[in-house]
This record gives sequence, structure tokens and C-alpha cells, in this order.
Amino acid sequence: MGDLNGKIALVTGSSRGIGRGIARRLARDGALVAVHYRSNETAAKETAGSIQDEGGRAFLVAAELGVPGDAEALFASFDAGLAGIGAEPGLDILVNNAAISLPGHIGEVTPEEFDRTVAINAKAPFFLIQHGLRRMRDGGRIVNVSSAVTTTAFPSTIAYGVSKGALDTLTRTLAADVGERGITVNTVAPGFIETDMNAAMRATPEAHAALAAISVFNRLGRPADVADVVAFLASAESRWITGQRIDVTGGSRL
Ligand code: NAP
Repeated sequence: MGDLNGKIALVTGSSRGIGRGIARRLARDGALVAVHYRSNETAAKETAGSIQDEGGRAFLVAAELGVPGDAEALFASFDAGLAGIGAEPGLDILVNNAAISLPGHIGEVTPEEFDRTVAINAKAPFFLIQHGLRRMRDGGRIVNVSSAVTTTAFPSTIAYGVSKGALDTLTRTLAADVGERGITVNTVAPGFIETDMNAAMRATPEAHAALAAISVFNRLGRPADVADVVAFLASAESRWITGQRIDVTGGSRL
């Protein structure tokens, strides 16, 4: 696949789960990868370590998202990280992957839970893009990680669905604004992927089997299933695709 040698990528929430898979894949394709995390430094170091073990390059970026000043703090850490390894400033690939999913039907979600969900899942990507675009070179790539919940109703995580709907709209609208710089903006929308995020939902063999049965392949997705699609969208080969939402659900609920 794509040759990302000389490219700099930032993957939010890449200490664990899907983000880790994306960071490892982009590094394998040659990118220098900023491994961002909130608090789990041990996991972030594992991601960076596995990249280095495979001959890739990575550095850590710590910043809590969803709090005032989050984008400034993240990019201060990002810029310092690049300078620390003697790399030129710049950004080529921004993957907005970090998110939270709090349970709750319409009657249960508190205003605080709603605000927190939207702040991490939609507002943070918006301002990370705003700051990221100041650093991004022409021909750059922005990939937002959304979810199947924006096209299939999941009433039990309604605030999460609303936040991801905003992200889908951000992708489409922004793509029209940055095309003149050759920058593409796309969304990937995974179905159920085996990560910490849904560990409680598949705690029993029966629950696991029920989630697996949603895909025509009768299994849960793996981080690599998403990472391979992100790698394509990050590559030069995807140059004629922008403003799109790519379903990465293993044919869920066709
Ligand atoms: P995960 O395993 O729960 O990992 C979440 C990642 O985001 C971690 O790296 C975490 O950092 C970071 N993070 C969480 N809250 C943060 C905050 N407030 N500030 C900064 N970083 C924060 O999640 P995942 O399952 O890999 O999901 C990744 C993306 O895929 C999300 O956008 C999610 O909505 C989407 N998605 C997931 C599924 C699924 O089935 N798993 C399905 C559809 C879409 P720490 O390690 O430091 O906590």
C-alpha cells in the first residue's frame, strides 16, 4: 500500500484499541507517528514500542481532550515532540480517533454527560483540525473515526450517536473548504470492533456471539480491519475521494 515515507501523522487515542492499530499501520507504511493518549502512558509506550520494534518511528503526545484549551495543549506537546527528535515542524495526516461512549437512552442522559460526550467526540476534533490545518502541508489527509450509529439507530447510546453525527457533517463540510489545498477529508464508520470500549457489552459468550452475528462475516471487527482502510485514505492513492463516509462494519445489518 501507500508509501508514507517523509509524512508525519497524528493519531488521537492511539494508546489502545483502533487508534493503536491505525498508528501501527501508518508507521508500517513509513510515517513518523505521534501516538496521542489521555492518561494511559503505559499503553501509549506499548504502542510506540511496538512501532519501533518493527523499525518504525513514533513519539508520544499526552493531552486530555474535552477540556478547555485541549487543542492548544495537544499541539504544544506535538510540536515539542517533533522538536525533541529533531524533525521539521509539519503535519500530513490527522486521524481524529479518540472518543468516549457513555450509555444512556434519551430519558437518562444528563446535561453533563451530553456536554462531555460532545466535547470529546465532536468539539475536540473540530478544534484539532483548526490547529492542525495551520501545520498541515498541501495534499494532507484528515480522517475522522465515526461509527455505524450515524446510519443505524442505537437508542441506548443516543448522545454518542449525536456526537458522531456532528463528526460526519464536519467531514463533508470541511472537505469542500480545503480541497483547493489538495487536502482530503473522509470518515470511516466502524461497526463493533473488539476493543476496551465495548468489553462490557460482550462479557458473556452469548453476548459476544450476538454482536458477532451483526456482521455477515459472523465475527467482531479487529482494529486492523479499520486501520487498513484508514491507511488507504491516508495514502496518495485515495486522492480523488473526499467528503465521504466509508462503512467499515463487515456488512452489518445489510
Ligand atoms: P478505546 O479502546 O476505548 O480507546 C480510546 C482511546 O481514546 C484511548 O487511546 C484513550 O486514551 C483515548 N481517549 C479517550 N478519552 C479521551 C480524552 N478525554 N482525551 C484524550 N484521549 C482520550 O476506543 P476504541 O474502541 O478503540 O475506539 C476508537 C474510535 O473508534 C472511537 O472514535 C470510537 O467512537 C470509534 N468506534 C469504535 C467502535 C468499537 O466497537 N470499538 C465502533 C465504532 C466506532 P487513554 O488510553 O489514555 O485512556
